Amino acid sequence: MKILVMSEDPEFFRSSAWMAQQLGGEILGIHPSESRYVDKVYIPNLEGAWETALAEFAFTLKPDVVIAGGTRRDRTFAFSLAGKMRASVASEVMEATLQGDSLLVKRPVYSGIAVATLKMRLPAVISVQKNVMEPNLLKGEVEKITLPGTNLILKERKVAQQSVSLDKAKIIVSVGRGMGSKENVKFAVDLARVLNGAVGGSRPVTAEMGWLPEDRQIGLSGNKVRPQLYIALGISGQPQHIAGIRDSKVIVAVNKDKNAPISENCDYMIVGDAIEFCKVLTGRLSK
Ligand SMILES: Cc1cc2nc3c(=O)[nH]c(=O)nc-3n(C[C@H](O)[C@H](O)[C@H](O)COP(=O)(O)OP(=O)(O)OC[C@H]3O[C@@H](n4cnc5c(N)ncnc54)[C@H](O)[C@@H]3O)c2cc1C
Repeated sequence: MKILVMSEDPEFFRSSAWMAQQLGGEILGIHPSESRYVDKVYIPNLEGAWETALAEFAFTLKPDVVIAGGTRRDRTFAFSLAGKMRASVASEVMEATLQGDSLLVKRPVYSGIAVATLKMRLPAVISVQKNVMEPNLLKGEVEKITLPGTNLILKERKVAQQSVSLDKAKIIVSVGRGMGSKENVKFAVDLARVLNGAVGGSRPVTAEMGWLPEDRQIGLSGNKVRPQLYIALGISGQPQHIAGIRDSKVIVAVNKDKNAPISENCDYMIVGDAIEFCKVLTGRLSK
């Protein structure tokens, strides 16, 4: 059994490697830096159309199972490789076991309300959710690879904003479309700062409008979080968002509309303007 683990993100890589170790076999990895969670790690150059060139390379390794992370790049890689391999695919897998020459996987369905068990024929390509499990240390042999040139040129590399990680944050201040504009997000950032919390957001404000970086997305197709306190500012509370926050200890929603769906899923609801709420609370806590 040859298992290939791939993610550009260290936490997703660790989660993928942990799942690979549960399955057993030879474990290869593709990651931007060295890692002892796999038998051998390939470190690619990161310029240009990384995902598709990487899928070409991964195809030559002939893996039986591919386990990828959940960033946009990871998923593009995984599903382009799956197409080449004519493999069966499943996303957001929580658990995987081998049964004969099939892979049994568990993944959430109905926005996380239920869990489905799927039987996949090999070869199989899956993407995983982040977990906190620590894989064993393996050989971690390193090979640097140079991907064939692409017609994309890297013109600028932006360093991600340094902020408290969503996984570890005890308090999360999360913004939705109801904040009104990118400029207004700073009021939530200020509040998060005085609370020593992290800032997250719904899909429209991260993946669609770019008010926050995409890695700050919370929900079904983003981060699943479990803080002590989750403050949802101008977030309507659609099932896809709730899927990522249901393990929060206390949920406080601030919304202009007292009938917004989030009222069904929060512990406290403040009916009012989210920006006003941020200004008042930040002011009080800063004194
Ligand atoms: C396959 C799939 C996956 C998805 N995955 C995700 C995901 O991972 N995460 C996610 O978030 N969404 C996800 N979505 C999108 C999801 O369905 C919703 O569209 C999204 O969550 C809505 O975002 P929102 O609450 O910010 O915006 P809206 O639904 O537009 O809600 C804005 C809210 O702000 C309130 N409001 C307006 N002005 C103010 C104000 N001044 N003060 C206070 N409140 C105000 C409004 O009353 C409203 O309730 C997914 C959708 C699909 C189809």
